[in-house]
Amino acid sequence: VALRHQITKGLIKRLRKVVGRPWLLTAPADLIPYSRDASGFSAMPEAVALPESAEQVCELLAICSSEGIPVYPRGAGSGTVGGAVAEKGGLIISMVRMNRMENFSHVDLLCRVGPGAVTGAIQKEAERLGLFYPPDPASLAFCTIGGNVATCAGGARAVKYGVTRDYVRALEVALADGCLVRLGSEAAKSVAGLDLARAVVGSEGLLGVITGITLRLLPLPQEVRTLVALFGSAQMALEGVSRLFQAGLVPRCAEFMDRMSLSAILEGLPFKVGHDAESLLIVEVDGSRAAAAEDAALASKVLAEAGALDVRQMSGPRDRQQLWQARRGLSPAIKRLGYSRKVSEDVCIPRSAMVAMLEFLQGISRPEAAILTFGHAGDGNLHVNLLLTQENAGDEALIHDIVEKIMEKSVELGGTISGEHGIGMAKRDYLPLEHSSRVLALERSVKEAFDPKGIMNPAKMFRQ
Ligand SMILES: Cc1cc2nc3c(=O)[nH]c(=O)nc-3n(C[C@H](O)[C@H](O)[C@H](O)COP(=O)(O)OP(=O)(O)OC[C@H]3O[C@@H](n4cnc5c(N)ncnc54)[C@H](O)[C@@H]3O)c2cc1C
Repeated sequence: VALRHQITKGLIKRLRKVVGRPWLLTAPADLIPYSRDASGFSAMPEAVALPESAEQVCELLAICSSEGIPVYPRGAGSGTVGGAVAEKGGLIISMVRMNRMENFSHVDLLCRVGPGAVTGAIQKEAERLGLFYPPDPASLAFCTIGGNVATCAGGARAVKYGVTRDYVRALEVALADGCLVRLGSEAAKSVAGLDLARAVVGSEGLLGVITGITLRLLPLPQEVRTLVALFGSAQMALEGVSRLFQAGLVPRCAEFMDRMSLSAILEGLPFKVGHDAESLLIVEVDGSRAAAAEDAALASKVLAEAGALDVRQMSGPRDRQQLWQARRGLSPAIKRLGYSRKVSEDVCIPRSAMVAMLEFLQGISRPEAAILTFGHAGDGNLHVNLLLTQENAGDEALIHDIVEKIMEKSVELGGTISGEHGIGMAKRDYLPLEHSSRVLALERSVKEAFDPKGIMNPAKMFRQ
């Protein structure tokens, strides 16, 4: 179906009628904030609608479907692959007004939230009630749960608790033709039919607009202990992570930073870092008071035996908070290192292959295209940042060549080209490195079954 890349005045009128005058934006100055996400890709949408209910979303979709208008669901726009960018013109549907948080249940260990609820706000509300929503993307202060479900966001705690997918029980989804469906089940188990809720998780807005989410919760762990360990080499730090698992520990976080990453956030850390430190690990354990204390003692011992220069436990909540604030600010802080361009990748490999990956990255890093690596080492998810000097910032062939090498290596080591950020616009040329043509054809046919006219986030993930 040929998409119509122009929203006429008549269509604007119809869309405005659905959401009400203040909630349909068309003035260029109002559209600019919606023209980009955190990827650096940008394109102006023709209009932005801010619906307040699933019914309104369905009505918007029915109009766009009948007229062949491209539609882009959008949360906070913190995505790093251009997923929410209106590359083909058309309508952005911003979900931020649909931010309810309700029905937190201690018995069913569930809550119901709107897609526009901010992830950090859900976590705070759960914690206030003695409950726990574990997925913690570093963007949790501003990203939305709808965006998290659509990208299957991960975070530091994924090593023990898993990713967003593991906490989605049921979804309400507005399909491209404006029909509202419920997928999954609020029951603790369900094997009824194909698991289409899982297909929607991580679908990056290609299959429909998520309008309601039932999340699985856990009881809040009684105690969290946070350790930091400094190492004389990045390899030793990654070996240290493996040793934790060999010792029978599953920490709730094992975050890794190389020397360049450390230098980006040095001033924000609640402790001094000596010149001999080439790498930092943040390790957290949790559980009952006794279990957390026992695991922290074992983790300290293991990390010291792995050759750490220093292992210390954060003394109180203030130090902990400062440490995590610095860690969560790392990605933006890299921009202050003086390079002209940063290209971020998020490969994920089996833990046992991390040292091989690191050595490969060190081998291809060079002064004009330096590689900085940090990430969720506990689950092998390394954020590989290619940093380019001014002379090379526009050299797309060089960038493509290095990125392709990194992705090929990840797949060769049994890993994936993206552990949590997704494909969007940034990685669609690389997806065939990981998925065979038969698998890609299957994926396209799933997309077609959900969205036969191809209006939902067109050309994302797979090139058209
Ligand atoms: C500083 C920083 C740190 C980050 N750290 C992490 C991290 O630790 N882990 C991680 O996984 N990611 C991380 N990210 C990436 C980003 O925050 C996540 O991808 C997040 O899930 C995006 O949420 P959002 O609300 O901003 O979605 P958006 O960027 O608005 O959209 C992302 C994608 O989801 C789709 N979408 C959004 N809402 C809906 C909906 N209701 N229905 C259907 N599709 C929808 C969009 O079309 C788009 O394809 C980070 C980003 C930044 C800037």
